[in-house]
Amino acid sequence: KVPVPSDIEISQSYMPKPIDQVAQEVGLLPDEVELYGQTKAKVHLSALKRLKNQPDGKYVVVTGITPTPLGEGKSTTTVGLVQALGAHLHQNVFACVRQPSQGPTFGIKGGAAGGGYCQVIPMEEFNLHLTGDIHAITAANNLVAAAVDARMFHELTQTDQALYNRLVPSVNGVRKFSDIQIRRLQKLGINKTDPTALTKEEVNLFVRLDIDPGTITWQRVLDTNDRFLRKITIGQSPTEKGFTRTAQFDITVSSEIMAVLALSDGLDDMKKRLGRMVVASNKRGEPVTTDDLGVTGALAVLMKDAVKPNLMQTLEGTPVFVHAGPFANIAHGNSSVLADKIALKLVGKEGFVVTEAGFGADIGMEKFFNIKCRYSGLRPHVVVLVATVRALKMHGGGPAVTAGVPLPKEYMEENLQLLAKGCSNLNKQIQNARLFGVPVVVAVNAFKTDTKAELALVVQLAREAGAFDAVECTHWAEGGKGAVALAQAVQRASETPSNFRFLYNVELPVIDKIRLIAQQIYGASDIELLPEAQEKVALYTKQGFGNLPICMAKTHLSLSHDPEQKGAPTGFILPIRDIRASVGAGFLYPLVGTMSTMPGLPTRPCFYDIDLDTVSGEVNGLF
Ligand code: ADP
Repeated sequence: KVPVPSDIEISQSYMPKPIDQVAQEVGLLPDEVELYGQTKAKVHLSALKRLKNQPDGKYVVVTGITPTPLGEGKSTTTVGLVQALGAHLHQNVFACVRQPSQGPTFGIKGGAAGGGYCQVIPMEEFNLHLTGDIHAITAANNLVAAAVDARMFHELTQTDQALYNRLVPSVNGVRKFSDIQIRRLQKLGINKTDPTALTKEEVNLFVRLDIDPGTITWQRVLDTNDRFLRKITIGQSPTEKGFTRTAQFDITVSSEIMAVLALSDGLDDMKKRLGRMVVASNKRGEPVTTDDLGVTGALAVLMKDAVKPNLMQTLEGTPVFVHAGPFANIAHGNSSVLADKIALKLVGKEGFVVTEAGFGADIGMEKFFNIKCRYSGLRPHVVVLVATVRALKMHGGGPAVTAGVPLPKEYMEENLQLLAKGCSNLNKQIQNARLFGVPVVVAVNAFKTDTKAELALVVQLAREAGAFDAVECTHWAEGGKGAVALAQAVQRASETPSNFRFLYNVELPVIDKIRLIAQQIYGASDIELLPEAQEKVALYTKQGFGNLPICMAKTHLSLSHDPEQKGAPTGFILPIRDIRASVGAGFLYPLVGTMSTMPGLPTRPCFYDIDLDTVSGEVNGLF
């Protein structure tokens, strides 16, 4: 057999269709499409309005078993499945995927456009700037960060009256509140529109956000893996008069604004969420929002193009939306609601939209259902659960699998015993999907080292565990052809009635919601809240955020909190270290262990291999 070439070699050997042709094929009108060169376009939200009476297509979510650090092929399978459905079974299809962060592209992981003969192309466009959405998020996020520190500085160095004179300047002898200032006054219970009518106390309330510096949760962001920005001191120039503060940079995709983008269902909804984001508490313990900072409108302006989904295509010419890419631990790890909604309208009643949820089913899928579907109102028809022989052997007790290190021999030779034992993880993740009342199709993503007997065993055990069906797939090496059986199983599963239900009611107390996820999805016997987490439960409940859904920030490498615990551990107590809130995006995120929000670069980063051919203009070395 001819070896499969590298991802970028495959990507570059295909000639993408002009993107306006793809747009026309999926039924978009020319004025709904904004071209960004020949292979990418943004789609206007007006398409959703035009198609509002069109019935939705079938909604399929791709998730996976608990993976190895190498990834088990969810993106690859998402693309393979739509290639099979669209190019081989001639159905209307759309894939909806996340936009990757540039940090890992140059760092340790490489690109995320799928792999082998299942890719979004051109992969260099997909993996790098795309249409600038991540840059827009960086700009918006950092505007908020700058506003927080500047506001504290001005409040600390000026009297109430001086602040008022600057915040509500007199122009030709007339003072006027802006719309956002009137909103703030109303929030403070001051129903006045005449700036000269405020009492001294009201002026004081109005001009002072009184941010408690110890409660600031808003950080600066950058889309580069730069470990030296994990903890910094800001304000060191003499112009800041000694108001220094310890702060940090996170990677852009971990910004709450990325999660807002992913969960918004229109421009107005996005603006509301952007204004609701809580950046700190004031000295009275009340939340301070972006709206209080006066920055909501500016954020909406910076994000007005990012809100439009990006149209691209697969290697086999089927349409793809690439839109939003929130972290899957401190955020919900799913692509945008808007892309899914537009795609569901475009494919029509008989068509299929395949969307991907980050990490394993215990995290990405649980959040897809309990957070994304709750906000979007969309109801999934089928779960595709990706499994690999290598990850299952690891769950059965096989040695550690590490990126950049050759796989130990257990993974290169047949070993049915390890594999059968490790299927405990597959079994648990199948049950997790079934808890939501949606049929599960297991996609066994075949690697060239897998034997026939191994692949057959996984299929058999998945069926016995209650999967609707389980299918061996070879799409990575063969393209859509290798996922036709999977596509047919998905078609059959989509015909069965789905009894979708949420795992919990958001009205439950915060602790009960966390316990439900820990016990039912992870297999924990109970949870343990450390003191900081207990304080936050009290704080958020008091501040009125107790009814938000829960977004667990847990390792993806185990069903438990301990990445070393493989298989399907039970009886453990899940420690909740702290709880944070993304009020604009709309969730509370309990921290189970420490989560890095700024990756670092390894000794030999991916950028060593990335190069530009200055004669042809081709990008080389991305994978
Ligand atoms: P995930 O989305 O689950 O993180 P990806 O689809 O990104 O996983 O796949 C992870 C890596 O594994 C990619 O580099 C991809 O090309 C590779 N890969 C996926 N499936 C196969 C396969 N069947 N054979 C060989 N490599 C594969």
